[in-house]
Formats: sequence, structure tokens, C-alpha cells
Amino acid sequence: MRATMQDAQLTIPAIFRHGARVHSDSRVLTFDGEACREASFAEVAARVERLAAALRRLGVGEGDTVGTFMWNDQQHLEAYFAVPALGAVLHTLNLRLFPQQLAHVVNEAEDKVVVVGSTVLPLLARVAGEMKTVERYVVVEDGAPVEASIVGQLGAEVLDYEELLAAEPGGVEWPELDERAAAAMCYTSGTTGDPKGVVYSHRSTWLHAFAYNNAAPDLPLGDRDRALVVVPMFHVNAWGWPFVAWMHGSDMVMPSRFLQGEPLARLLASTRATVSAGVPTIWSEVLGYLREHPELDLSALRGLISGGAALPPKLVTGYDELGILVFQGWGMTETSPVCAVSVPPRGAARDDPSWRLATGRIVPGVEVRIIADDGSEAPWDGATTGEIEVRGPWITGGYHFDPAPEKFHDGWLRTGDIGSVDSRGFLRISDRLKDVIKSGGEWISSVELENGIMSHPDVAEATVIGVPDDKWGERPLAVVVRREGAEVTSEDLRRFLADRVARWWLPERWAFLDAVPKTSVGKFDKKVLRQRASAGELAVEAVRAEPS
Ligand code: AMP
Repeated sequence: MRATMQDAQLTIPAIFRHGARVHSDSRVLTFDGEACREASFAEVAARVERLAAALRRLGVGEGDTVGTFMWNDQQHLEAYFAVPALGAVLHTLNLRLFPQQLAHVVNEAEDKVVVVGSTVLPLLARVAGEMKTVERYVVVEDGAPVEASIVGQLGAEVLDYEELLAAEPGGVEWPELDERAAAAMCYTSGTTGDPKGVVYSHRSTWLHAFAYNNAAPDLPLGDRDRALVVVPMFHVNAWGWPFVAWMHGSDMVMPSRFLQGEPLARLLASTRATVSAGVPTIWSEVLGYLREHPELDLSALRGLISGGAALPPKLVTGYDELGILVFQGWGMTETSPVCAVSVPPRGAARDDPSWRLATGRIVPGVEVRIIADDGSEAPWDGATTGEIEVRGPWITGGYHFDPAPEKFHDGWLRTGDIGSVDSRGFLRISDRLKDVIKSGGEWISSVELENGIMSHPDVAEATVIGVPDDKWGERPLAVVVRREGAEVTSEDLRRFLADRVARWWLPERWAFLDAVPKTSVGKFDKKVLRQRASAGELAVEAVRAEPS
């Protein structure tokens, strides 16, 4: 037999050891509302060892699950490494889940210990009685005192994070881990039905982190970077950023609970962040603040990454006006998440709309195919649409306790997204399968309608859902939030849209709200809007017109 390469395991401890040794001077900054507390990677690494030793003393071992119910901060990062390095599974709990869903996911994942921030402890306490598997809560003081009455509601042992770490002398014996073992898990945000658990392995996490800079060559996370980690650490491991940044020595700025436009815009400037990532609704808020505060110096910023929902072209141009590039990425909880990132192809200018308005280019390591309505594989012609299916080493092969065969097709994950791919591998998402509007047998893309409406200067937010229609089966209902002080009408918007989309797409039904409801990860929540529309709770204006 020929000798081949060594069989080194691709594990999270391997990422941890590398960053701790090679990038010991890089920094983690945590914002407390006024200033940033700072620690070097070496200091964080020493605390990770203490946390791991403390968790082991509490009986956490290989295969156990440890939940985190925390904002983005240094302690959360410590758990990101300590838990998987012990061979246990890090379960990042979504802070915005409904109480019943929270109890459900904790029970299903069998969380044994939950590390929880003091500011969100009351949320957890409300359902602690229903959490059957939790033996201990470890509380991190992250900006609120720990109330004895709340502690009393938890019904399990409650320990203080810093006291636990202080009691450890340091040094821990790490177990040998198999790269295919479970390392972390995250539940889908459950916009339709109950959340489903996705379990990441050490190997998938390592490969995803390693591939990331290759996928985003225009915005890599390297040791000259400072990444403002806006995407929550409970949303697909903050899109893998903590692992990428640690692996490559990028500073991380953790905004904690200060996730509004103003503090984020100010943090970008005051920390001289070079890159940041978040969902479009956040970038829209930040843009509004930046426009009003031209004095903020963003000269260090190389660009922003937007993902999790379609990026409205209006945001791209809005940031262009400030000299800031926004790049788009596409993926999902099931895909770790990065599958495609919009990068300029050979010969294209950085501001060329042909790539900038695409959802992203397929990254190496991920295979994509488009399955048309008739079940055949669609050509990559940039026009034929169908359901996007993906496979690869960081794409899930099933759900926790739920093989969900309907979500897979011959080993490919059915993403539930509809789109096309062009000859250069640029993907364009036109809709979510559940959101497409079928009018008179033909599909209307809600994403394109939304982008068209949102490009009107008087529109702050817009989303489009399908509603039943006697004649056409379904028709679009546009839900719009006007910019403050604006008085734009449905007639104005229809006229404006007429140049941008096919005439038969033009919505006859319009509703104006103060805000579009958002999901637990900040996306427009169409499920809630559909429920409100069918319960007759939306004041719908009907424009008298026939689709033609
Ligand atoms: P989640 O698992 O919460 O991250 O949601 C994943 C879903 O978000 C995908 O299946 C898409 O429907 C949507 N999504 C993510 N990124 C984009 C994007 N760049 N454009 C359009 N939709 C996106």
C-alpha cells in the first residue's frame, strides 16, 4: 500500500490551538453600551481552558449537550471553544424563540447545563419549569444584576460563571476527538412550523471555516481585520465567523445586546472595524443612522456582508453613496451556512450590477443543482428557475431526531428556495417555495416585487405575500412601511412599479403599516403577515385594476 498523508483530525480544538498560539495578540472586544472591554486571544484561550475544566468538574463529558442563551460577547466565544473541545455539543439557543419553542428545543437537545446571560435570565426563568434535562445554569453577568426571585424560579442549581472560572487552577487535559463527532447544534428559526435541529460536526465546522476566506476573497477575515460580529451567535454560529476569525487572527468586536442602528454605526466607527456581517434589516437601520451622521469616520471599513434574506438593491446603492461596498451571501442553518457569496468575477468592475445584484457565486465545496417543475435538472442559463438543491461536506444530512425524508432528494438537500444559476455559477434567488405567488398558473417573484417597491425613495420597508383571489387563484398583497413623514400612496407605488416589473405582477392590494413584523433572526415575517391577512386584520386598500 502506498503511504499517503497523515490522518490529522479536522476539529474545533485544532482551530482553537492554532488561533491561541499563532494569533495570541489578536483581540476580542465586548461592548457594554459605553465602552469596549478588551482581551487578547491568549487571555481568552486561558479562560477557555478554565471553563472547560469547570464544565468537566460539573460532569459535562463527551456527547453531552451544553446550551448557551447569550448575546454576542466574549464569554459566548469562550463557550464556543470550551464545549466542543471537551467532546460535548454546543447548543446555541435563539434568544427570540417563543417560550414554548425554547422549552421544546432544550428538551429535545437534552441540554444538561445552560450558560445564560443575566440580562436574558428572566426569559429563560419563565419556562425553566418545563426544561426537563437541565441540571445547572451558569450565569454570566452581562449588564443586569441577578435577581434572587428569578434564580428561585429556575428550579436547578445556579452558578456564577466568573466564580467557576476563578476556582480553576488552569490547564485541562483535552480528549482525542473524532472529526465526525457532533460539535455544535442550532435550531432553524422556525418561520414555518416547529424549529428543527441541525447538528454540525467538528469536520464540517473546520472545513466551513477554512473555506470561508476563499469564498469571500474581497472581504476575508485576516489578522489585519477587525470584524464587528452583528449576526447573532445563535444564528448558524454567527455564520461561522467566530471560527473563521479565530483561525485567521481577525479581531472580533462583540456588540452584546446593542443591536440597533445607532450603536452599531457608532461601533463601526469607534472600533475602526474593517468588516461586518448581518441581515438586510439591520443594514437598513445602520444606513439610516449613517446618513444622518456623516461625521462618523468609516475609513477603515472595507465592506459589509449581507445574508439571510434578499438584499434590496436600494441598500446596495445607498451604501455605494457612502463609499461602502455591500456583498451578499446565501445559505441556511442546514448549510453551516455559506453556500454562495457575491464576488466580482474576472474582468468585472467592483460596481458591476451583473454580479453585485446576484445572490452569490457558488463556493468551492458546495454542489448546486436546480430542479425544474417537471423534476428535470434545469440548465445553468441564468433564466430557468426551479428549486435549489445542494450537497457538500458542510450541508446537513438530516435533522436531530427527524430524518425528514421530504427535505432530501437522492442525497441532496432540498433548500426550499427557488432560483436560477448562470453559466459562471452565479445564483439568483427569486423566492422561497412557500412564498411564491401563483397567479393564473404563472409565478410572480415576491423578491423582485419587494425590491421594486423598496427602491422607491419614500418606502422604508416592503414585503409581498400571496393572498387568495377568486379569479386568479392568488394575487400579491404589498405591505409597505412609508419612510417617516412620507405620504406616498398605493397609486403612486403602482405607477412607479409599472416600469420595473411585468404589468400583470402589479399588486391591486396594498396595506400600509408602521413596521413589518420580523422573525427571531430579524427577517420579514411573512407567516405572521399571512395569518393577519387571512384573519382580516390588515387594512387592505384595493386599487381597482385587472392584471393584464
Ligand atoms: P436561516 O436558516 O434562518 O438562515 O434561513 C435560510 C433561508 O434564508 C434561505 O433558505 C433563504 O430562503 C433565505 N436567504 C438566506 N440568504 C439569502 C439571500 N442572500 N437572498 C435571499 N434569501 C436568502
